[in-house]
Parts: sequence; C-alpha cells; structure tokens
Amino acid sequence: MLSTIIYRSHISDEVPLKTLAKLAVEANKVNESHNVTGILLFNGTHFFQLLEGPEDAVLAIYDGICRDPRHHNLVELMRDYAPARRFGNVGMELFDLREYDQAKVLQAVLDKGTSKYQLTYDDRALQFLRVFAEATERENYFEIPPGDAWEFIAESSKRSLKEAVAATDDYSFVFQPIIDPLSRQVVSLEAVMQPASGVSSSEYLAQLPREERYEVDLKSKKLAFALAKKLGIDGLTLSINLLPMSLVVVPEAVDFLLQEIHANGLVPEQIVVEVTENGAIARADEFAAAIRKLKASGISLAIDDFGAGSAGLLLLAQFQPDKIKIDRNIIHDVHKSGPKQAIVQAILKCCSSLQITVIAEGVTKPEEWMWLESAGVCHFQGALFAAPELNGIPAVAWPEKVEAW
Ligand code: CA
Ligand code: CA
Repeated sequence: MLSTIIYRSHISDEVPLKTLAKLAVEANKVNESHNVTGILLFNGTHFFQLLEGPEDAVLAIYDGICRDPRHHNLVELMRDYAPARRFGNVGMELFDLREYDQAKVLQAVLDKGTSKYQLTYDDRALQFLRVFAEATERENYFEIPPGDAWEFIAESSKRSLKEAVAATDDYSFVFQPIIDPLSRQVVSLEAVMQPASGVSSSEYLAQLPREERYEVDLKSKKLAFALAKKLGIDGLTLSINLLPMSLVVVPEAVDFLLQEIHANGLVPEQIVVEVTENGAIARADEFAAAIRKLKASGISLAIDDFGAGSAGLLLLAQFQPDKIKIDRNIIHDVHKSGPKQAIVQAILKCCSSLQITVIAEGVTKPEEWMWLESAGVCHFQGALFAAPELNGIPAVAWPEKVEAW
C-alpha cells in the first residue's frame, strides 16, 4: 500500500548549511533503494519532508530520520494513504524556499509534482505543504529544549499513614497531586480508589453487579475524606472521582457527599468531583440536576479523561465544568505528534473562551511537559512530578533548569 508521512523538524545548530545538498544526496541513495520518493523543503531553520512509498519502507526510513541528530523537535504532521505518488518524478529533491520569490514558490514546488497525480490543494498533504511554504502556522512551532534541560528534584515532604484508616478490606485510596510546576504549587490532591485485588478502580466497579456499583462508588468517598483528614490536607483542594451515574442512581448522593465532607472537617469549596465523559449522557436531565446541586453546594466539577470517551464536546455544550483533565493518551508524546498538538490547542482555545482550567494528566516525559507549558497549559499531573502514593501524600519532584541550558 502506498503510504505517506509528513513531518516538520528544526535543523541542529551544529549542521553547516552548506552541507545540506550533500546530506540530500546521501538520503536520496537510501530512499531510492527503498523505492521511497517525496520532497524535502527547507526554510533556513525548519525542514518539511513528505515521504511516499510502500508502507514498510516509508516507516523504516522515517524511523532512521527520527533518530538523526542533525535535526530536533521533530513533529509528525500527517500519516495517510494515497492512490498515487504526488512527487514521484525525482527521488527526494531538496527545495530551499529561500531561493524563491514568495509569490512563485508554491508553483515551483507544484511543478515538481507528478502529472499523473492531480496536484490540487484539495489534498491534505499539499495543504500541509502550502502552510509550511507560506509560513502561516509558524507561531505554533514550539521549540523545546532537550529533555535533560530540566532536572526534577524531589522535595522531602512525603506524608504517609502508618496505620490504615480502612473501614473495608476491599480497597483503600492513593493520592496524587495536581501541580503548577513553574510556580511550585500543589493545586489539588486527587484521591483514587485502589482495590485490594490489584485491578484498577474502574475494573473493580465494573465487575460489581449494577445495583451495587454506584452505591459502592459513592460510599467509598467516606474513606477518601477520612484519609484526607488524617493526612491533614489543610487548605488543599481534594479531587475525588465519581461515575456520572453514581450521582443519578444513588438517592440523595450529593447530600451524602456533603455530610461526609463536613464530618471530616472539610468544606465543599475544597472539593472537586471528577467525572468521566462516558455514561454521563445516558440520563442527561437527571445528571444535570445532580450537577446543579453539586455546584450550588460549592463543590467544583471536572471532566476527567477528556478526549477518551464519546461525549466530551456534547458535555461541554450542555454544561461547563470548572476544570477539564486532558486524557493521558492525548498527552503521551504530544511533543512529537501534529494531530495531538492540534487537539490540545483546540481544547485550550475552547477552554479559554469558556474560562475552564485545563489540566494535563499522565505526564511522564520532560518534553511533554515543556511542549504543554509552551502551548499554555499550567496544571499538570503525572509520574514525572509525583507518582500516586497509597494512603499518603507523595513528595513532588519540582523542575529546575540545568545551568548549561
Ligand atoms: Ca480522575
Ligand atoms: Ca484521569
């Protein structure tokens, strides 16, 4: 199958520009032997390459390109399939945009195309090419330093309980902070149910009979609040997780939460309820009524795992939470993925218009965090800063800039 990959990258400082033509000739030999063709644009700072050929060959060449030290900040923009090559005439031509008049450059690139393939800008690949050549998206090229530009230094303030507070043998809770790394602030502490059997809380709840599931989910928060009290969370915000249906199916669910919040010396304004997108739409009216009651009592609402379910945008249209947490699958390797970057930027723009705070969850790499900070995310959760701690509050590893950078 004919496959296409397009990426953009930044030339490394130590590569002399005059070696580029030679570099292209070298690359061409490899491409030719793999039957891979395409076009390579250079604007003085960035490369833009379109690779076309049999899927395995394109992937093999792309893999080598990703590991090449002569460029960095490589972002994959598109991965797709096409009926014919767009640039099959020559091997892989290097096209230095600076040698062309701005008004003529696009036509000059198109002239390199194969006549068999209708080179019209209806084609996504050619739209990418046009945007790069015209430099209209350049403000979104966030250049981040290498991962080792920051060190993550753990503070020595871990708190944990020696004896369990458990009212049940079935589960306990782990706590994981949500932080603002640059202002070195813990924004909130999330309590996540940890079943004794070792499965995840969602698996544990899913295996319970329906009539018990929501009751167990809601009532488990009694232990979360009690643990928070024992740990002494002071003025911190506490985030708890609830299945949306737990607020609908269990009678007086919000009253139960309020009662337990007060019983443990907490205040509703200190509590954030995280709900996932999944299932919230099933009984939308009743769910909306429960949310109104939560909000009226002072409790905040966050949409959890945003982007992983099917109703995220509809939920946003129907009622707006105070926070959204972007799902870890979107956060993973966001610094290398054009589609993920576009999604995060759209979420940020939308949430900025709606005054909703955005949290990135599941952050494990310095590069992910750096890209997200550049894009405008301020609140983070993930093992890069602090892994969840059973019956305790973990120490946070705060980022510190390494001198050399
Ligand atoms: Ca959560
Ligand atoms: Ca989550």
